[in-house]
Amino acid sequence: MSVFDDLMKNVTDLTENVARKSTAAIETQKLKMRKTSLESDMRDCYVVLGRLYEKQLAAGADPESEEGKALERLSQIRISIGEIQESLKKQKGVVTCPSCGRDVSKGYEFCPKCGTPLKKKGSASAEKAAAEDTAAADSSENVAGENTAGENNN
Ligand SMILES: [Zn+2]
Repeated sequence: MSVFDDLMKNVTDLTENVARKSTAAIETQKLKMRKTSLESDMRDCYVVLGRLYEKQLAAGADPESEEGKALERLSQIRISIGEIQESLKKQKGVVTCPSCGRDVSKGYEFCPKCGTPLKKKGSASAEKAAAEDTAAADSSENVAGENTAGENNN
């Protein structure tokens, strides 16, 4: 075999090697994506199961149990999310129709859905007071939760 042949063989080996490696990398990437997708499906299943379990628990969970604490935490989170939604609406100037609950952009004097006159004042104050009552009724864990929710409010 000539030196040139040797050289060509080496180049061919190298090319094949690179091709093999990139095929392996693509396979790895495919597997990783498949795993991520399945993990996402699994989370969706947990969400469905969790919601069903929450309904079952809601009536009679021991507040000191892990489930009871998670339920309490969920209700705090819902309140925080509600407050954030209200803040976002206020920032956008959206008002909620007191009659049908539709969100209406500012500038409307009457609800376009049901015709109820819309006042300039926000209707969120009563809900917020109720939320604060519930929040104040429990421990420092809830305060931490509210802070977390607040940080996500952009
Ligand atoms: Zn309305």
